[in-house]
Amino acid sequence: MNPFDYVRPASVSEAVAAGAAPGAVFLAGGTNLVDLMKGGIVRPSRLVDVSRLPGLDRIERLPDGSLRIGALVRNADLAHDPDFAGSHPAVAEALLSGASAQLRNAATVAGNLLQRTRCAYFFDPASACNKRQPGEGCDARGGENRQHAVIGWSEHCIATHPSDFCVPLVALDAVVEIAGAAGPRAVPLEAFHRLPDSAPDRETVLEPGELVTALRLPAQAAAFAGHSRYLKLRERTSYAFAVVSAAAALRLDGGRIAEARIALGGVALKPWRERAAEDLLVGAAPNPEAFARAGKAVLAAASPSGENAFKIGLARRLVARALARAALGTPARLPALPGSVLVPAPGEIAGEITHA
Ligand code: SF4
Repeated sequence: MNPFDYVRPASVSEAVAAGAAPGAVFLAGGTNLVDLMKGGIVRPSRLVDVSRLPGLDRIERLPDGSLRIGALVRNADLAHDPDFAGSHPAVAEALLSGASAQLRNAATVAGNLLQRTRCAYFFDPASACNKRQPGEGCDARGGENRQHAVIGWSEHCIATHPSDFCVPLVALDAVVEIAGAAGPRAVPLEAFHRLPDSAPDRETVLEPGELVTALRLPAQAAAFAGHSRYLKLRERTSYAFAVVSAAAALRLDGGRIAEARIALGGVALKPWRERAAEDLLVGAAPNPEAFARAGKAVLAAASPSGENAFKIGLARRLVARALARAALGTPARLPALPGSVLVPAPGEIAGEITHA
């Protein structure tokens, strides 16, 4: 391991100043960063430990009804907060789908947003990777790439973003609060992560030294609480990243869909919102035909980046199923560990979700 400085600032402004130094990175839960350092994938010259900064570990209801979640709130604490899980059940469901219980106890909200791709070539210093070393090439292009992106990718990088948490958050219009040398600013989560284009090493809109301080969910997000789900399809039912995942949320009024939200995970280098499919549902009756139509409309501009064409059809069927489960109503009690999406929910007719 390379030598590095370790500093522990006492305030957000001190953290921002310390984090602006070349080669500095912020350390909070460390569940991703420490692994990357051990593997020699990232070699920071300075760790700025923000894990004890005061005031960033609170969940607060603001006067306008929105919810602010401090950057240092632990994933497990947020998922098990009864008020939060009651008003934003799909987000709690996504959190409980991620990683392992031990990791969820340590990982923070901001760290979840900022985690790095799990592309195997990124983790292998012997492989060419433009994200790790700009200009080096991308060994995933001609390699093992069935888990890689089907939309928003470029010839320079075909990786996906691994977060479950971000998928329902982007569907619910979450906003990222950021502190920097120029003062605070807020960025919609949908605009926070960057697509690879020609610079896959730049993953977010954060400038050097900028620190994520909180996430904010608008008051309107809670209007979907009665009909929202997050379904994650993975190669085993625990401790695995999504092959594809889908967040679906509906607001029903008079037997019709008044508003719909849809987002996908595992398909791009950012959580992928599907507004055209949402618009198709407005005014429709919540039935399998409408959900199949919306499912077929997602990923309209998708193309395989390798051996992963199967993901496109899989995502479309998963969206239809997530919408159907949302329409059935959010279960009063979500399981501590979400099970396989292939097992029909009570009241649901078993549908086909295969790789075919
Ligand atoms: Fe690196 Fe991206 Fe290529 Fe993976 S897909 S090897 S992260 S450049």
